[in-house]
This record gives sequence, structure tokens and C-alpha cells, in this order.
Amino acid sequence: MVKQTIQIFARVKPTVRKQQQGIYSIDEDEKLTPSLEIIVPHDLADGFVNNKRESYKFKFQRIFDQGANQETIFENIAKPVAESVLAGYNGTIFAYGQTGSGKTFTITGGAERYSDRGIIPRTLSYIFEQLQKDSSTIYTTRISYLEIYNECGYDLLDPRHEASSLEDLPKVTVFEDPDQNIHLKNLSLHQAATEEEALNLLFLGDTNRMIAETPMNQASTRSHCIFSIHLSSKEPGSATVRHAKLHLVDLAGSERVAKTGVGGQLLTEAKYINLSLHYLEQVIIALSEKHRSHIPYRNSMMTSVLRDSLGGNCMTTMIATLSLEKRNIDESISTCRFAQRVALIKNEAVLNEEIDPRLMIIRLQKEIQELKDELAIVTGEQRTEALTDAELLELEKLITSFLEDQDPESRLEVGTDMRKIHHCFHYLKKLLNDKKIHGKSTVSSEIKDQDCQEPLKEEEYKKLRDLLQQRDNEINILVNMLKKEKKKAQDALHSSGMDRSECGHSQSSPFHLGTEGLRTLPSSAPTQVQDVNTFGYRSSLLHRKTVMREEMSLGRQEAFEIFKRDHADSVTIEDNKQILKQRFSEAKALGESINETRSKIGRLKEEITQRHMQQVALGISENVAMPSMPDLLEEKLRSQLEEEKIRYKMMFTRLKALKVEIEHLQLLMDKAKVKLQKEFEAWWAEEATSLQVNSPAVNSLNHMKPFPQTPESQRERSQLLCNQSDVNARKILPSPCPIPHSREPSSTSASLEDSIPEKPASSIPLTGDSQTDSDILAFIKARQSILQKKR
Ligand code: ADP
Ligand code: MG
Repeated sequence: MVKQTIQIFARVKPTVRKQQQGIYSIDEDEKLTPSLEIIVPHDLADGFVNNKRESYKFKFQRIFDQGANQETIFENIAKPVAESVLAGYNGTIFAYGQTGSGKTFTITGGAERYSDRGIIPRTLSYIFEQLQKDSSTIYTTRISYLEIYNECGYDLLDPRHEASSLEDLPKVTVFEDPDQNIHLKNLSLHQAATEEEALNLLFLGDTNRMIAETPMNQASTRSHCIFSIHLSSKEPGSATVRHAKLHLVDLAGSERVAKTGVGGQLLTEAKYINLSLHYLEQVIIALSEKHRSHIPYRNSMMTSVLRDSLGGNCMTTMIATLSLEKRNIDESISTCRFAQRVALIKNEAVLNEEIDPRLMIIRLQKEIQELKDELAIVTGEQRTEALTDAELLELEKLITSFLEDQDPESRLEVGTDMRKIHHCFHYLKKLLNDKKIHGKSTVSSEIKDQDCQEPLKEEEYKKLRDLLQQRDNEINILVNMLKKEKKKAQDALHSSGMDRSECGHSQSSPFHLGTEGLRTLPSSAPTQVQDVNTFGYRSSLLHRKTVMREEMSLGRQEAFEIFKRDHADSVTIEDNKQILKQRFSEAKALGESINETRSKIGRLKEEITQRHMQQVALGISENVAMPSMPDLLEEKLRSQLEEEKIRYKMMFTRLKALKVEIEHLQLLMDKAKVKLQKEFEAWWAEEATSLQVNSPAVNSLNHMKPFPQTPESQRERSQLLCNQSDVNARKILPSPCPIPHSREPSSTSASLEDSIPEKPASSIPLTGDSQTDSDILAFIKARQSILQKKR
């Protein structure tokens, strides 16, 4: 068992504005524990929190300042956790911080560069690399990806995502069994045999999450995502299986609604926007206080799912992500305070080992066979299950003569065969019962005495007999266990079919988070989930793209081209395309060099052999012994060979790394393309609304919305929108929403009027009709030309 408090790390996001310097500093105390000091600027100190402290100091295990790259974060934070998972312990890494502080960047990675890949892809890469190195153990890796939004769980890897909207998919629910183990129903586990397969699952889940999000509600800031790697390991021939889970958690933004007092002063008490973070804090407070017996895990889905990670059987690490700019001071202090409480929580991680009854039975059966064989060797005869008729007849004769023999010293000699001994007892019992012999006790005691006196001839034989008996008993117990397990699984499947439409209140069905993959699939989710291979996942992403594309009318396609041209993401896609091209040609060139080197190695080997043969032949023909001096030419060839081998190995390693990078870049691009298309749909819908509301477009310029949108403006917009209803917000696009538009003078509206085709506003639908689409396109183009003229 490993006892450990939750490890806390801080990561400071690079600030955009230079003048933000001086807001914080990082020091170390005499024990080399780093601390982060946040200095509250004077103008804020008056209004900020009740007391007028000017600085706050917080200790962390380590603090990563703005310059820390993703590799450093992985090496220092995630690698130790991945190592303990490989050793069989559960692990959790969660990122906590306000929206925009870098949680997703840290956990998943940036959307643009390969070098920005975050903890999840790097951990997958590391784990698979280690598994490949260890051939002495059999490993199974499974992946699940859960999103919790508004207390409802969604399986981001549900293969039906594409066909159905989020609301129609069965919700993932949590419940406890009588032993207080947490179970998740409707969360699929996908086997991933390679790093690529696991990476594809990550991207598939992320894309599904993005598709489900609408501009009305940036769910990604309000939902929690748990990417889990379930690792099982087993030594060949052993019945003991180890299970370890690694949860990589991207929590919802921790920002709070600040309660504003008189004169705009902020009061200390501010409430989380996200209710489940409030419950998370309650759990953390309860855990960090001594003598608290009740921990309110059950209050929210997230705390239930992460119960083991918080004060349980897990090695847990928290990353506090901080965006240390002036306007974020209060949120940053909250995040650090939260971390300090988390650091008090003690966890106890144990190795999760269990015996697989099926494997045990196989092992015992094998052992029984071996014992039987040994027995046969000792007794010199092969044993069958039952005695033959002849043997039975022979025995009965022996018993009869034994009973009839008047000599008190007489013995019943049947040898060392247990089957014969048992048969004698049965036969005697039957005789006693049948004939109702009087003085039964005398006879039986006589027999018993005889039996006891009967010395066992061979020690070994006795031992083997005992062992056999013991194994028989064990098998019976295990068979019973298996029957019970089977019954439980059947019950579970039955109940899962009954209450799939409910959200959050399920009470039944023993689906284990972390055991048997297939068991966790709902009855109507066929086992095909497991068969979806790497290409399946990618083609699923690509399919989504092309379907969206094919459905577009010509007008929309043209508008899409305009949108794409000016959108910031297109630049990224183009950049990545260029990098991909480079990588492809590098890979191609490397491939060629590898082939060349391989043939060179072949040639060198051939030359060495020939040289060797020549030397031998020379020795024979001249009838002299082989020269004791080393052959210089051969040595030279050998060193050349070694060099080529080293080169080959180096190039091969590089090619392997390139392959992973290419795969990652392709996935990044696919994701960016889907995102672009999604944003285009939203924009298009807005334009249509705008045309609808303002047609005839006398004042259309008043409603013009500049594009492309910068990440900043998108964030601001989403924050504005965050406060609107979010219950029904997660619908598939398009969902036109009232967005505050920037105001511009409408002096050029007359020229616009000329260029926009007239159409009664009420007859304009939002999608589909190609005539309407060309109207919207004309509207967009007209506005663009006006904008250009203005410039
Ligand atoms: P969160 O998930 O906490 O809301 P994100 O991870 O989405 O925040 O980060 C917000 C923005 O800041 C993203 O554009 C991201 O790429 C960028 N970002 C975050 N952390 C870093 C970092 N350490 N280095 C560079 N860019 C970062
Ligand atoms: Mg995020």
C-alpha cells in the first residue's frame, strides 16, 4: 500500500500583455519548497476581499512558470503517475482553474502544433512504449471517455453519436453496489492495442464533444471530461490479474459569480457557476478536515465517479492552472486556495489484484492431470475414471472371501488404488444395509480398525491423494463462483435495458468501471464497438466532414470558400498541411535511405562471409594454419557493418516518431476542418437571420458581424452567452441566436440596397433551399464589397 497526499502543482499560462508582470513571484523556502506569491495591485486591494491584504503566498510541490513547455509538464507531472499505473496502482491527474487558464491545453494539448500535444497523447505514447518493452507480461488496454454536463453523463465514444443527437443517447449513470463500489452504466470501453488506436479514440471523443456544443453554450467550459485508460496485466500462466485505471480529467471552468456589494465592491463569498464544482469543494473540505466521518460524495456525479481519486485507492495529482493577469487575480487566488486544501487529502493506493476464476480452473485442471500422471508413474498403471467390470467382479470376490474368512488376522488386500478402496467401503455398506446384519457395530468397528491399521504403503501416494481431494473442492467452489457471476451479469443486462432513458438515478446493474470491457456495454450496444479499428475512427471523422460538405448547395459552398479564406483556423490548417507535406517527404526520404542502408548491410555481410571463405580456402590450399593475425580487411568491413547498423537503427527510430507525428497532425487537421465547418454553419445561420430580420436590407450594415472571429472575441461572446439558459442549449447546429453586433455607420446602405435581391423576409428558411442560399450569398458578397470600398 502506498500512502500519499494529493500532489499539487501550479502552471502559469503565458500572459499576452507584458505590463502584467509584477503581479506574482515564485520563491523557494529553506526546504526548497516553492511558493507562489500573488501580489494584489493597489487599485484592486481596496475593493478586493474584505481584508486589505496585499499579497498571498501559496506552497506547491512545484510551480511551472510561463516558459514551461508541454514536455516538461509531462516529464514532471504525468510520467510518475503513468509509471505507478504501469506498476498496478490507480492514478488520477486533474486540471483545475478558471476558463482560459490552460486546462485543456495541459490535459489534451493545443489544437495546432504537434509539440503542443498535452498529457493525454504523451501518456498514451509513454504507456504503449513501456508495454512494448515488457514482453514478460500480457497487457490489455482499454479506453473510455466520459463527459459530465449538467449532472448528466455522456459517453463521448458511443458509436451512435454520429447518427443521434446527444439527448437521444443513453445517459451514463452511476450507482453503488452493496460493497460501495462505484459502477458506471452505459459507458463503453474500447480496446486499444496501439498508441494510434488510442489516439484516434481521443480525437473521436473530442470531435464528438465539439459537434455537440453550440455557440449558445460553450459546454466545454462547463462540462467535465474524464479520459480513462484501463490497464490490465497478467503474467503468462498466472491466474492473477492486475487492474489499474488512469483518469485524466479536464474539469469545468472554476470561475465564480462574484457577489457584488455596494459600490461595486467584491465580497469574499462568490459562488461557482458550476454546481458540481461546488460539490467537489465540499468533498475536499470534508476530506481535509479531521474527524469527519461523512464525506458527501453522492451529491454529484463527478464526485461519485472520482471517489477513489479523492481520499481513496488512487495516486492523485492536481494541476492548478493559473492565468495571472490583473483581471484574474481573484480567480487565481481561489484556485490556489482550493489547491492548498486538496494538498491535505491523504490517499491510500493498493495494488488491485484479483483471481480470474476461469483461469484458475484451467490451471487446476492442468495440475490435476499432472498429478494423475505422477500417480500413474508411482503405481505403475494408468487410471481411468471408473473400474472395469472385471475389476469390480474381482473386488467383490475378495470382499466375500474376506468376510467369510474366520481368521481374525485376515486382511482385505486391494492395493493402493483409491477407487478400489472406495468401492470396498460402498460394497460393505450395501451389504450391511441389505442384510441388516446384527452386531453391526462390531463388524463395522472391525472393518474400521482394519482400515486404520492398513498401513499406507507409500508416503507419496497419500500426499497425492490429499492434493487431489483439495483440488476437487477448489474446483467446486470456483464453479459455483462462476455460476453466480454469470447470473449477476444476466441480471445486469436485463435491468440496463429497462431504464436507459433515465438520467442520473439508476440503482441497478453491476457494470464495473475498470473490469471486463464487454460487460460495460449496454445490451443494445452490440459488441461491434470493440471491432471498430483505427481506420474506422478516422473514417468516421472524415465521413462527418464529407456529408456536411455534400449537403451544401452551390451558393453555400461558395460562401464557405469565402468564410474559409478569411478564417483564422484556415491558416492553421494550411500551416499544418505544409508541415505534413514536409513530414511526408522526410518520411519518404528516410524510407529510401533505410532501404539503401538495409541493402548495404546485406552487401557488407555478404562480403564478410566471402572474405572469410577466401581466407579458409587459402589456408587449405597452401596447407598452412589460419593466420593468427587478425584480417585487417575483415575488421574494416565489420566496423563498417556496425556503423551501418547504428545508422539504420537511428533512422528507423526517427521514422517511427515521424509516423506518430504524421498521424497526430492528420487528426489535428481533421478536427480543425470539422470545427471550421461547424463554425461556418453557425455563421451562415446568423447571416440568414440577419437577412431575414432586415430585409429589405436598408440597414443591414448595422447588423454586420466581423469575421473571422478571433479567439478573444469568441471567448467574450461565449461568456456573454454563458448566462443564458443552458438546459436546452446542446442541440446540433444550426441554432441562430441573438448576438450583440458591432455598430457601424450606415452611410453606404444605399449601394447595398441595390445589390441585394428582394425577398419577403417571412419566406426565408434557414437552410436547405438553394435559391435562398444564393440570396444569402449575394447578401454576404454585397456586404464584403462595401467593406472593401470603405477601407
Ligand atoms: P481552459 O481549458 O482552461 O479553458 P485552454 O486550455 O482552452 O483553457 O486555454 C485557453 C487558450 O490559451 C488556448 O488558446 C490555449 O491554446 C492557450 N494556452 C493555454 N495555456 C497555454 C500555454 N501554457 N502555452 C501557450 N498557450 C496556452
Ligand atoms: Mg477547456
